[in-house]
Amino acid sequence: MKVIYPGSFDPVTYGHLDIIKRCADKFDEVIVAVLHNNNKNGFFSIDERLELLRKSTEDMPNVKVDSFSGLLIDYAKLKKVDIVVKGLRAVSDFEYELQMALANRKLYNSLETLFMVSNSKYSFLSSSIVKEVVLNGGDVSCFVPDIVKDSLRKKIEGGL
Ligand code: ADP
Repeated sequence: MKVIYPGSFDPVTYGHLDIIKRCADKFDEVIVAVLHNNNKNGFFSIDERLELLRKSTEDMPNVKVDSFSGLLIDYAKLKKVDIVVKGLRAVSDFEYELQMALANRKLYNSLETLFMVSNSKYSFLSSSIVKEVVLNGGDVSCFVPDIVKDSLRKKIEGGL
């Protein structure tokens, strides 16, 4: 079975990687799909996010990294995958994710959304928190892999 794990991944964190690893252990293939949103300027470009994801998942051979724009259901149809995995950190994630899952199923009836509960170690962690900490000079070693930490630093110093 193949699943799609979509998100912004701006940048990938240990919270995302925990979900990716657990999916990679349970499913034949995991497609990590970075959403390209024209209305939202990211901190990292899509190519930079893809590169960081690829490097952070290189020890997981059944994980593929890709990007998409437009509707998730169209991307799922294109890839011939009808299972989407979402991570749930807290009840606050649930309301929005439930709405999205129901809307997606209305648009594409055979699409199932599976919710994977966050590892309690990372249930507070988001890409926004990582950026906030780093922009204020904090250490994000326990939130992201070294490759991401180095790219964050370079980005802030204007070298990326
Ligand atoms: P964020 O910018 O909030 O980190 P993303 O859009 O990149 O979120 O998240 C992609 C997916 O990963 C979503 O399903 C989100 O709920 C999930 N996710 C994000 N952070 C975590 C975490 N720390 N633990 C588990 N799931 C997470």
